[in-house]
Amino acid sequence: MADQDLHKVAFPTLDDVQVATLAKFGTRRALRDGEHLFKAGDREYKFFVVERGAVEIVEHSSGETKKVALHERHAFGGDVSLVTGRPALISAVARGDTEVFEIAPNDIRRIMGERPALGELLLRAFIARRELLVASDFQGLRVLGAGSSRDTFRIRDFLARNQVPFTWIDVDHDPQVGALLQSFGLTEADTPVVVFGSEPLLRNPSTRALADLIGVRRPLTQRVYDLVIVGGGPAGLAAAVYASSEGLATVVIDATSPGGQAGTSSKIENYLGFPTGISGADLANRAILQAQKFGAQFSSPSQVARLEFEKDKTLVWFDGEHVSTRCLLIATGAEYRKLDVPKREQFEGLGVYYAATQTELQLCRGSEVIVVGGGNSAGQAVMFLSEETRRVFLLLRGGDLRKSMSSYLTDRIEGADNIEVLVDAEICRMLGDQRLEAVEIKNLRTGETRTVQAPAVFTFIGAIPCTNWLPAEIETDPNGFVKTGRLVSASPYWTADREPFFLETSRPGVFAAGDVRLGSTKRVASAVGEGAMAVQFVHEYLRVM
Ligand SMILES: Cc1cc2nc3c(=O)[nH]c(=O)nc-3n(C[C@H](O)[C@H](O)[C@H](O)COP(=O)(O)OP(=O)(O)OC[C@H]3O[C@@H](n4cnc5c(N)ncnc54)[C@H](O)[C@@H]3O)c2cc1C
Repeated sequence: MADQDLHKVAFPTLDDVQVATLAKFGTRRALRDGEHLFKAGDREYKFFVVERGAVEIVEHSSGETKKVALHERHAFGGDVSLVTGRPALISAVARGDTEVFEIAPNDIRRIMGERPALGELLLRAFIARRELLVASDFQGLRVLGAGSSRDTFRIRDFLARNQVPFTWIDVDHDPQVGALLQSFGLTEADTPVVVFGSEPLLRNPSTRALADLIGVRRPLTQRVYDLVIVGGGPAGLAAAVYASSEGLATVVIDATSPGGQAGTSSKIENYLGFPTGISGADLANRAILQAQKFGAQFSSPSQVARLEFEKDKTLVWFDGEHVSTRCLLIATGAEYRKLDVPKREQFEGLGVYYAATQTELQLCRGSEVIVVGGGNSAGQAVMFLSEETRRVFLLLRGGDLRKSMSSYLTDRIEGADNIEVLVDAEICRMLGDQRLEAVEIKNLRTGETRTVQAPAVFTFIGAIPCTNWLPAEIETDPNGFVKTGRLVSASPYWTADREPFFLETSRPGVFAAGDVRLGSTKRVASAVGEGAMAVQFVHEYLRVM
């Protein structure tokens, strides 16, 4: 969308009917010139409509105060964080004697559900505002840390996966960094640090502390849920959208951040409805917002460790707490296999990566890099990386790329000048001191080896199901994939007086969808389809239980 059009979508003026509809939910508030409605960092701040006077939106992420927008009569304030429940990124200040009416975030979500046309206007404006803010010189959180630090990578990766606007300042290379650190009363030894505006917030924070800061780990409010979804990949997110839109009290619990494997893809080109492709992070972000709009709750990073079955409920345990639910969906997908090469562990986050996104690219732009694997995820990574690195070596243990990769990718790989496919090849050594500097590659047919100077190895060599936390009552095959439907009708754990539903596991009321399920097709669309279908079975189970 052209900037001008985006601006119109972002800052519409409400008509009298829309104002009257919103006013029913609002509380009037009079403000003096310079008084704040809310400040950046405030949680649970309120939506507002200006009745008289004006409200200026300002941001100070770089330390300087900058004007973002001015809302006058019948304009409204708010952005996507009203829906996601995250803290405000900007501040709102009255200009002149001003009167507004304010609406609590829960009521805004309710209005979005009950008044679709008005809801769409608001949500489109919120999304467009965020896009404009991110495209401006807004710095968001600033991460001051070294490219050679694993903790810096962890922090950047977590913020990026959770779609938090941030700027990374590389203490190894940025000439201004010394003065900047000094202005916060810090030295390089304190890095990585996370700052906002002129305030240092966290020093080398744990992932959990970061999650609290950005507002993704919040207390769950319901005593008993209709549906707890373990895993927020495409299957879990689809289930969350359908379940919450159909009135089920729903929560998604994810061990890292919602998005799953798909969230690590730089570009998904074969998902229906996106002819020019969509990044996994974007797809996940839209789905999360959609589910939250309908009232689904999220908790991450929260690793589910244990289930406890009661007569007609399941207790789901994570990080020492638990929630209770009538139905459970296991959507924990799969996690990548790791290379069996000495020193691999030492270089994780310091040259060994399992995703190819901007976060990793920033660390190897212009260099030679290695991608290992023969499937579509490896192919996508090769295409993405080849645009901004000098050369990509694609390593296959076998001899034929076309056997395992879609032709839309193999055609492009074969046509590219800076991609070299090495068949019958594997990495036998990783070399480097603080971080990965080079790898030794062995030809499995001839035994010859060669060394490539490469600061990054990207591995896409298949995945194993995340099911080691499941109790015996949930039957799996010998490889750990969850059995469902006809496969569990004779299970000793199957106690119901009926046949299991198609996606039901050996425990009545517990379902499985997506990559974790035995026999599923390992694709985004299939996972989404199964997640949606599972909700239908949840309704049927709740009817017959
Ligand atoms: C790099 C890459 C590119 C891909 N590209 C494509 C593509 O272009 N097209 C396509 O169709 N498919 C693609 N795929 C495959 C596709 O992403 C998967 O099929 C899909 O993501 C499976 O979705 P899922 O929801 O079943 O599981 P996942 O995406 O694996 O999500 C599972 C989620 O569960 C969470 N989890 C795991 N254990 C626990 C626990 N104990 N407690 C709480 N949470 C837990 C994880 O953190 C994760 O977020 C790609 C995969 C990768 C890795």
